[in-house]
This record gives sequence, structure tokens and C-alpha cells, in this order.
Amino acid sequence: MQIEKVETFPLFYHLEEPYGDANGLKAYRSLFLIRLVTHAGIVGWGECKGWLPQLETQFQQWVIPFLRGKHVMEEARWLPLLQQESAALAAGVSMALTEIKATCAGLSLVDWWGGCRHEQIPVYASFQSYSGRIDWMERSIERVESAFDAGFRQFKVKVGGRTFCEDKKHIRALQERLCEAGEVALDANQSYDVGTALKWNEVFSDQCHWMWFEEPLPIQQVDGYRLLRQHALLPIAGGERLPTTASFLPLLQEGALDIIQPDLLHLGGVESFRQSLYLGRHFGTRITPHTYDGPLSRLYALCAQSTLPAWSKMQGDGIEPIEWDWMENSLNQLISLMPEGGQVPIPQGTGIGVEWDEERLTYLRWDGRSFTP
Ligand code: MG
Repeated sequence: MQIEKVETFPLFYHLEEPYGDANGLKAYRSLFLIRLVTHAGIVGWGECKGWLPQLETQFQQWVIPFLRGKHVMEEARWLPLLQQESAALAAGVSMALTEIKATCAGLSLVDWWGGCRHEQIPVYASFQSYSGRIDWMERSIERVESAFDAGFRQFKVKVGGRTFCEDKKHIRALQERLCEAGEVALDANQSYDVGTALKWNEVFSDQCHWMWFEEPLPIQQVDGYRLLRQHALLPIAGGERLPTTASFLPLLQEGALDIIQPDLLHLGGVESFRQSLYLGRHFGTRITPHTYDGPLSRLYALCAQSTLPAWSKMQGDGIEPIEWDWMENSLNQLISLMPEGGQVPIPQGTGIGVEWDEERLTYLRWDGRSFTP
């Protein structure tokens, strides 16, 4: 079963109003998809993270020539060569190969992996809380309320991009509006030191209904995380940009995190992503994969999560939630998968089990104009 054709789909969506996190505001969202087709006409889609012009050049210049003629079932021999060059490229190719193999076997993704343990997965609405507007706090709270009205009861909002006092005002106002009807996670995008992160205990202690405190510190600061975890009043989450399964080990061995957040697009392949999830289970941490970038990597995260044993016997079926981007982003509607009541049913059809919106794929195709990464 050889790869005959490789197509690229660089997609670009200009935002009506920039939004962002502690790293700054975004004016656009982008997505790079690939479609591999075998000689027998079996199709597999992949998603790659990165700057569109660079990804397109890499694929046209050497990835497509490298992939043409490769045997899908000999992935173990040649995918590591791609992983050595670029984890981002290899992640996308790995997804496409997985879909092709599942489709050939006549199985859904989860059945290819040995079967589903959870038929639906909870999702939390994820926000980019900042904007250039003076009334950004009110706008942020309105967005959370729109997700609440759509059935979400778990939300993640950003901190660390404004002063502590301003962020505190935002979060307290949000909790008051939610009236304890929803749980909130705070994501600082690695913007604090230990002392500043611990100032949040003041807010955590006088309100409840929290989920976790995400990446308060640079993720390399294992000692800082261990110290913070001993004193913080919320579970500490992190690891969305870690590049290998092994890079979770220092944090896990030191007991530095309560929750790990592997991201398939950073981990160079479907198998290393799934290994990271199981590694977390072996260490007894919770696992809530990071899935901000695109709908296909989110679908893989949902399916992989559905195959995990339960984290706890105490909370329903004990499976942790997955991130669901609830910001303005037309790329989110590219596949036919939407949450209902804060849950997403796992697709049962052959392969990835969802349909692509071909018209939207065409409409969102990047026109090649230059833009700042
Ligand atoms: Mg994060």
C-alpha cells in the first residue's frame, strides 16, 4: 500500500476582531492540512502546526518527494527520518497514515486502537480573553455566557496578559456572573514566577468551582512547579508544548504537575501522543490534552481520550475534558463534529468518521499573500 499523491491545504482566516492571551493578540487563525492518497485510492488527512509559507515550501520542496512511493505499512522504518527533521511535519503525516490504516481495516479510529472506553467525551469551552477593546473584560464574560447558553459548564480563560489586579477583577467578575453554575480554569501561558502565581491563592480561596491553574510558570522550571504545587490551592496543569513523551518524565517524576496536557501537533506523531497519555495514567496524573490549533488534531485527541481507562471512580465515568475552542474561528466548522451539552460523541464511522466541508476548505484556502507569523 504505497502513497501515490500528497495534497496540501494551507488555510487562513482573518479575524473580525483580534483576540489573544498573555503572548499577545492574534489577527488571524491558520491551519495546514494535508491529504495523502494511496495507489488504491485510500485517503488520509493530517494537520501540521506552523507558519503557512514555511510549511508549504517544506512540503513542496522535499516532503512530498520523500513521501511519494513510501509504503504505509512500513511507517516504522521511514517516519522517524521525518520526525528527526520536523516534529510538526511528522505529526501531520502520522495522522494521515493512521486514518489510511484504520480505513483499510474497515475500522473507526478508536476501534483501530482497540476500542472505545467512553462513548462521549466532555469538552470545556476555551477562550482567548484579551482584545484591544477598553471593555475587554465585559466582552470576555459575554463570550463565556454564550458558551454557557450553548450547554458548556466548564470554561478556560486567560490570565497573565494584564496586571495581576486587572486580571483578578476580570476573574472575580466572571465567577460572580457564573453564580457557581460553571467551573473555571485559568491559563497564564507561562507568564509568572512562583511568587506572583501564589498571589492567585487569594482568589482561589474565596471562591469555588475551579478546574485548574494552567502553566503559571515557564514549563522548564521543574523545581518551581514542584514548589508551586505544594502551596497552590488549585491543581497545576501544563505541558502543551513539550516535544517528546520523554520530556514529560522530569515533571512527572518530581511530582510537579497534577494534570498533563500533551498536544499531538507538538509530539511528532500519533503514537508518541498516545504514549504520553498512558504515561500520565501510569503516574496517576490527570490528562486533558491541549487541542487549540485545528479540528483534526482535536478529533484525534477526543478519540485517544476515549480509549483511556477512567481517571477516577468517583466522578461519573471519570474521564477528563478536552479543550474546545469557542472563539470566532471559521476553521472550527471544517468537520462535522460539534458538542452537545458540553459532550462530544466519538465518531463510529470508518476512519476518522467525519465529513469535511469541501466548500469551506476551498473558501478558506490561503491566497499566498505574505503575512507576519
Ligand atoms: Mg495553555
